[in-house]
Amino acid sequence: MSQELGITVKKDQNPSEWYTQVVQKAEMADYAPVKGCMIIKPYGMKIWESIKEDFNTKIENTGAENAYFPLFIPESYLEKEEDIVEGFDPEVAWVTHGGDKELEERLAVRPTSESIIAPYMADEVRSHRDLPLRLNQWANVVRWEATDTRPFLRTREFLWQEGHTAHATEEGADEETMLRLEQYQEVIEDHLAIPSILGYKPEHDKFPGAKYTTTIETLMPDGKSIQSGTSHQLGQHFAEAFEIEFEDEDSETQTAWTTSWGLSTRTIGALIMAHGDDDGLRLPPRVAPTQVVVVPIYQEDNRDEVVEYAEEVTEELEEKGLRVDLDDRDHRTPGYKFNEWELKGVPLRVEIGPNEVEDNAVTPVRRDNGEKKMGQDREEFVEEAEEVLENIQESLYNELEEYLQENIREAESKNEILATIGKNRGYVKTRWCGKESCEEEIKDEVSAEIVVLPFEEDSKPATIQEKEDHIDGECAVCGEKAERWAYFAKNY
Ligand SMILES: [Zn+2]
Repeated sequence: MSQELGITVKKDQNPSEWYTQVVQKAEMADYAPVKGCMIIKPYGMKIWESIKEDFNTKIENTGAENAYFPLFIPESYLEKEEDIVEGFDPEVAWVTHGGDKELEERLAVRPTSESIIAPYMADEVRSHRDLPLRLNQWANVVRWEATDTRPFLRTREFLWQEGHTAHATEEGADEETMLRLEQYQEVIEDHLAIPSILGYKPEHDKFPGAKYTTTIETLMPDGKSIQSGTSHQLGQHFAEAFEIEFEDEDSETQTAWTTSWGLSTRTIGALIMAHGDDDGLRLPPRVAPTQVVVVPIYQEDNRDEVVEYAEEVTEELEEKGLRVDLDDRDHRTPGYKFNEWELKGVPLRVEIGPNEVEDNAVTPVRRDNGEKKMGQDREEFVEEAEEVLENIQESLYNELEEYLQENIREAESKNEILATIGKNRGYVKTRWCGKESCEEEIKDEVSAEIVVLPFEEDSKPATIQEKEDHIDGECAVCGEKAERWAYFAKNY
């Protein structure tokens, strides 16, 4: 294998360099002329489109409709909701000129679209019969991150979906917030095979202006957490600022309740980190652009019959509804092809040489565990291929689920939190009083923060108020009465 093709560092020894190499060498993305922006290459885009299709089907089946809103938001719109201004101001990119003419009003390049969707909702909503109103857009947003940008994980421009809904009641908005979070969980766990933890963000870390923010967190093999999607109950804050009002059944004017929820290309970063190994990507079959690659191995004198046989096998697999590629490039050696498809994480490779042709057989090799079945009967293989792919999907999930459970550790004092983060990373589960200052004390020393306040396992979450004061014991940091369990972790 040539040096340029393969990954030259071990994942556990240098995860950061490993990540950069995989992103580029597996042709997921590349760097762009503007710092913090990325070029998403076709292979990476196919993965995003698969995530998009999976989630889009879910939201369309549950009442949301796609629309599109402008990239530019007038400054006066952004200013109508002061928490948004304060929360996003340092990260907003501004357009000040059209050609060489200075604009009368600056235009924000959307960092998020509440400020432009809420006024539209105010126009659309007249009566309680217009509610709930559920809109979604697939778009790009810009947040001018200052430091530490990395393709997919942290970029100044990224792709996402943002859902925005308005409801007649608080309960309606609560249910919506949880529904979307649960749908994120389905995408992350079932489609991307990454186990997750659901919960709230601490009050001081919620979305600007929100009543509460819920999050789905995933643990990466380097022990750091990635926030993989957020769903916000926005209360009546935005509806008041933008006058989203409706006439109720008694013809009284009421203010609506709103939500917003987003899932971004960051999930691709999580996908790469979560499953990749020293040889490159390992893609779960449901999201893999190519699920099976068929590689014929031949000499000049038997090329025709081997390739013909490989074509037949490819067709049989396609007839089973699988996404299959036949790699019959003459200018590449089989070894080169194996390495390239391993790098790209294709779940199943099928090797076909003259022996396989003679025996009416194939030799499949699994990407997740390297398992090889020399000369397996061709018919048997085609028959069970789909099942093998399902098994790979499950194995990838189970591997991470085991890792996650092993890496949630309880700590009962500040020193214990610090020592556990320092030694093991992962999640440190601890009792917390709810004060930001207690989180700051940990953050200052080991740059770990409270990434999630987990939902209680045995009950479906309602609102954050109802979840408070549910636990006994004292805050591990300050010793005052604890309000909830909190998970500290280093994060992306
Ligand atoms: Zn405390």
